[in-house]
Amino acid sequence: MNEISGNHQVILEGIKKYISVCGAARSAAVIIAVFATFPLLNAQERPSADLILTNAKVWTVDPAGPRAEAVAVIGDRIIAVGSASEIDAWRGSKTNVIDAGGKLVLPGFNDAHVHFTSGGFQLDSVNLKDAGSPEEFAAIIGKRAKERPKEWITGGAWDEEKFTPPHLPTKEMIDPVTPETPVFVTRYDGHESLANSVALKLAGVTKETQAPAGGEIVRDAQGNPTGVLKDAAQSLVERVMPRPTHEQVLRAVKRALAHAASLGVTSVQDMGPSYQEIGIYDELADRGELTARIYAAPLIPNWQDQAKLGIHRGFGSSYLRIGALKAFADGSLGSTTAYFFQPYTDTPNTRGLLSSMMQPIPQMRDRMIRSDAAGLQFCFHAIGDQAISITLDLFGDVLKANGDKDRRWRIEHSQHVAAKDFDRYAQMKVIASVQPYHAIDDGRWAERKIGPERIKTTYAFRTFLQHEVRLAFGTDWTVAPLNPMLTIYAAVTRATLDGKNPDGWLPEQKLSVAEAVQAYTMGSAYAEFQDAVKGSITPGKLADMVIVSDDIFTIDRKTIRDARVEETIVGGKVVFNRRPAARP
Ligand SMILES: [Zn+2]
Repeated sequence: MNEISGNHQVILEGIKKYISVCGAARSAAVIIAVFATFPLLNAQERPSADLILTNAKVWTVDPAGPRAEAVAVIGDRIIAVGSASEIDAWRGSKTNVIDAGGKLVLPGFNDAHVHFTSGGFQLDSVNLKDAGSPEEFAAIIGKRAKERPKEWITGGAWDEEKFTPPHLPTKEMIDPVTPETPVFVTRYDGHESLANSVALKLAGVTKETQAPAGGEIVRDAQGNPTGVLKDAAQSLVERVMPRPTHEQVLRAVKRALAHAASLGVTSVQDMGPSYQEIGIYDELADRGELTARIYAAPLIPNWQDQAKLGIHRGFGSSYLRIGALKAFADGSLGSTTAYFFQPYTDTPNTRGLLSSMMQPIPQMRDRMIRSDAAGLQFCFHAIGDQAISITLDLFGDVLKANGDKDRRWRIEHSQHVAAKDFDRYAQMKVIASVQPYHAIDDGRWAERKIGPERIKTTYAFRTFLQHEVRLAFGTDWTVAPLNPMLTIYAAVTRATLDGKNPDGWLPEQKLSVAEAVQAYTMGSAYAEFQDAVKGSITPGKLADMVIVSDDIFTIDRKTIRDARVEETIVGGKVVFNRRPAARP
């Protein structure tokens, strides 16, 4: 048996201290190297674990040892993974032992695409998602207007597909119940919103108002605004809405954190947060109150704010990092604003909208070349096949200008990919950052919108893997629920929400549970340059783990959506627990 000579105890104490203060990705390799020496120590010289998770079915997502029974943690890091008896050797008098009761343990889920603070606000806002008729829609809004008549009504997440027949809501639907309350409620995908007459008046939107580039004001037969504003036109009302106060945002973020912890989401990648929101994340990180790790990607037009400080992708601590840029290439399928080569099948007068950020293209190209040279990562929202193609063209231009390096560009959603473009993803090592829940949601009506041919490469997760394109999984919360079990269920069943495709919509694109878990953990960690410190249950990595109610690898796939995370551990601390107290 090898031994490490010298002042072990001193060295180990030093390491423990170092581990507890050190979170940056750069030191991951050092930490892993240090940890590799621990098994060489005599049992009495080893530090004891702060936490042991045992009697578990551990699925590590680490090919070096895919399964285990127990995990030992010191500080915020995993120190050892192995059999229950191996790990028991790390037990000391102060070790907290969690008996998983034979249940499945996975690395914490890393949601690669969320709108985190909006999620927190949504948890407190009106819920229109299930409004099945205009009357129900109006009743929900009317009730809130009675409770808080002077406060803007926002959020909502409405879905006009729930009406029979489907039709866009109008201000006339809600004006009678909101005579003095401004309303600006948003479609669940965020790409169109409905304003009532009070809000339109405050915003000065009339029959004469022109829509900004990349936006549309929906009008009735007489040319009057109906209240629905699409994409860039939403800014007409947004700019007159009062900014949320510090206290309101703080409350929303705390609500979002509690929600994430309850679902086993231990990392989130926040797309397009405001600086106010990032400041509040930092405030919470400072107080040790962030229970999910956040990678924040502010919008690309302000790229110089980060570049001026010399910030590169992945800058920050293990809890809060920046260095990425969110961009929009187009809108969404449901809003008929995703940008396609060919017209929509059900709306032949449009191919969708290239976003205002992309116009003119040379300006976007210049911004990309300069921000890439500064070391910032791109997260490009692109849904329609032409928006994706143009994004890939621009990536190619940046490559030509700045040469090859490890960039991990991402195309967020990657929804409708032209057959020729899968190879381009692979060549430029572009990550497909996808949200499987959208597939079982949009799958209800996508074919009606784009026809039988284009549908074949829709949410083509299997095709991506066949082309060796990396997947990162997320939800796009608030567009879809944050619950990872629903995402995994969607990826492995592709059973649309209307129950019409029990064996899967485009079933050849289904993934296995193992592939789905991989994309949700290592895949997402890779997409944020954190694969060396998280994404698997591996010695040296951050101790972010979840205990799941059922073994999703063996239960009937249809029941995965009912599985629940029972306990969530972030950095070795339990941040959520719904299990009955059963501690040895
Ligand atoms: Zn999004």
